[in-house]
Amino acid sequence: MSELIQSIRERYLAVLDRIAVAAKSAGRDPESVKLVVVTKSQPVELVRAAIEAGVKIFGENYPEEGVMKIQFLQDFSAVEWHMIGHVQSRKAQLVAANFNYFHSLDSLKLAKKMDRFCGEAGRRLSTLLEFNVGGEDSKGGWPAWDEARWQELSAELAEVFSLPNLTVRGLMAMPPLGETAEFSRSFFQKVKRLQEYLSFQFPQVDFSELSMGTSMDYEVAVEEGATFVRVGTAIVGTRKYQTETE
Ligand SMILES: *Cc1c(COP(=O)(O)O)cnc(C)c1O
Repeated sequence: MSELIQSIRERYLAVLDRIAVAAKSAGRDPESVKLVVVTKSQPVELVRAAIEAGVKIFGENYPEEGVMKIQFLQDFSAVEWHMIGHVQSRKAQLVAANFNYFHSLDSLKLAKKMDRFCGEAGRRLSTLLEFNVGGEDSKGGWPAWDEARWQELSAELAEVFSLPNLTVRGLMAMPPLGETAEFSRSFFQKVKRLQEYLSFQFPQVDFSELSMGTSMDYEVAVEEGATFVRVGTAIVGTRKYQTETE
């Protein structure tokens, strides 16, 4: 095994171990947490090494870069590709036609486009709704920092839930960056409360998945109910190049 594969494998298994410990400490089944390895701005050779190291789910942020990797690595058909970054409407088709899962749906306009392109491609796309729970301007997602105003989201979300080719499965969030993992906890708890609120408002919709937690705070996220954690640098190292700005 090459040194690169070996080192990715060690870090991947170490993160899986820490997820299991965090899950058990919260009384959760470790199997209920899926690890998305984030490879944005990493070269395709590194992604191939990660596949050989045993990684099953990849997260990409930029549609073109992701599609390039998906096409290059299409022989590895057991691998899943998740779009986790902000998607501009004009790139919806790339995501609809190529990705297995969409974590970062953040507007009705994009939802409608994505639904139409999925229909044309004859696919249904598993989708999470991204919420902005910290109130930062730089972050995407439906505004959800003020719990007193959650009901204002209902009309627009109801339209999203009516789209036939998007299968909503839960929520995603990216809290403000803090100095410590503990700083994220209250934001993860807010996402959990929003999940409960939406489940009550829309009992016909499945909100069981929660995508939250990165290299710096994934254990806290698991303690607070994450079913997907999105971990990049802790497994594949620092990013090698920058393709696009978000
Ligand atoms: C880059 C990114 C991650 C992973 O961040 P790391 O600090 O490298 O673990 C997770 N989620 C999103 C949305 C990202 O853009």
